Amino acid sequence: MTLARGRDHLAIPGPSVFPDRVLRAMHRAAPNIYEGELIELTESVYRDLNRVAGNDGSVVMYLGNGHAAWEATLCNTLSRGDRVLAITGGRFGQGWAAMARELGIDVEELAAEPWRPVEAARVEAVLAGDSEPRIKAVLAVQTDTSSSLRQDIRALRRAIDGAGHPARLFVDAIASFACEPMHMADWGVDAVLAASQKGLMTPPGVALVFIRDTIWDLHARASLNTPYWDWRPRANPELYYERFCGTAPTHHLFGLRAALDMLFEEGIEAVWHRHACFATMIWHALDAWASVGGLHMLVPEAEHRSRAVTTITTAEGDARRLRDWCERDTGVTLGLGLPLDTGKDRVSELFRIGHMGHLNPPMLLGTLACIDAGLKRLGIPHGDGALDAATRQLASSCRDDR
Ligand SMILES: *Cc1c(COP(=O)(O)O)cnc(C)c1O
Repeated sequence: MTLARGRDHLAIPGPSVFPDRVLRAMHRAAPNIYEGELIELTESVYRDLNRVAGNDGSVVMYLGNGHAAWEATLCNTLSRGDRVLAITGGRFGQGWAAMARELGIDVEELAAEPWRPVEAARVEAVLAGDSEPRIKAVLAVQTDTSSSLRQDIRALRRAIDGAGHPARLFVDAIASFACEPMHMADWGVDAVLAASQKGLMTPPGVALVFIRDTIWDLHARASLNTPYWDWRPRANPELYYERFCGTAPTHHLFGLRAALDMLFEEGIEAVWHRHACFATMIWHALDAWASVGGLHMLVPEAEHRSRAVTTITTAEGDARRLRDWCERDTGVTLGLGLPLDTGKDRVSELFRIGHMGHLNPPMLLGTLACIDAGLKRLGIPHGDGALDAATRQLASSCRDDR
């Protein structure tokens, strides 16, 4: 018997839940793309995106997804044979590194286990050993969406500076943008990558790269650059269409305007706090479930966990059974687990809870309650009191936000 009527809930790590306000802003006729409202609105969207990123430089936008931001960043800064240091802790970091290799870039990979970040000292040691220096950039992922591992970006900057190395720091913040703090200029990040469909609560279709002035000397020498991907006209357009090398993503701009209004009405610090609070509610629930049986968070240390997505390991077959039951019988779609390599073996019994963007306690507690019911229904061993633990955390205003 399914009880899944009412509004379905998508608890996956992107696309996230789109607010009605964003959808309404997009539900309109095509605008004038030469002058007037759209042009002014675009300027305001770029300005406010930079505020979310803590950027003192430029915004570059593509009609594309996160992979477009990956390729754009590599092609605008590098040439065939250039070396980069890729810090990976899951499938997304590995995916970006693999794309770089396919472009002919010489990738040195510093692989973490997917549950523990690479130590900054290892990064510093590799850079200190690169005396020529050959490494042009360090590629890092703030939240690897497959493992839900969170990398300390400031520690990476300190490692680069500690080695006295000129490498630039590029950060994939696609999962964490507008969910977790990003202070790009203060933290010394040279490029930050984002996309519309995660913390920005807008349908997939817009890729973003935030760049600082520290990047232009690399850009000047990058022979992988091509006219369509080129940052120069997109960041400094003489004519409006040059921002997009063609037609603007008109309706995404309307949607992003509404999403940014929502973020700033709430206050960006409050948005970050809300995500931290929801994450801790999930962690408390998981601690209770994990007290008996086979459900565990992949990342054991709270300080290394994402605030936007949580990856959970299960006994064989349970992740799939639970996802199927929750979707069919309750209308909650949980995130598919992406198999993870640890170097030694492969972890493939996983599911994920996406908790990014347009989310409130009823949505989150509903998801946790449906998982709890699923565990009971399917006879999956688990500890009691998960919802009690989550609601206590909520009732304390998430004082224990670790
Ligand atoms: C979602 C995601 C991507 C890929 O984005 P697509 O839009 O699917 O191309 C890359 N990196 C991270 C960290 C992500 O969360």
